[in-house]
Amino acid sequence: MVERDERKVIILKEVKHYICEICGTEYNDKIKAQHCEKGHCKPLEIIKERYLSVGNNAKGYPLEITVKMADGTEQKYKR
Ligand SMILES: [Zn+2]
Repeated sequence: MVERDERKVIILKEVKHYICEICGTEYNDKIKAQHCEKGHCKPLEIIKERYLSVGNNAKGYPLEITVKMADGTEQKYKR
């Protein structure tokens, strides 16, 4: 008499994915993730700040900042 092995073999598929460390986007393709990472332009320093009076903005944070970017351009950010 032959005894049957009732254990089932579960086959799992392993999926590799890549994450852009700068924006957190996930890609299945390594090249696309590298392209995303290389495509981001990082800020270097704040070169201008614009504030409202404390009466209009008790927290005191700037309303607008201008940032010098790694590619040499100046970019304005607003709250
Ligand atoms: Zn990215």
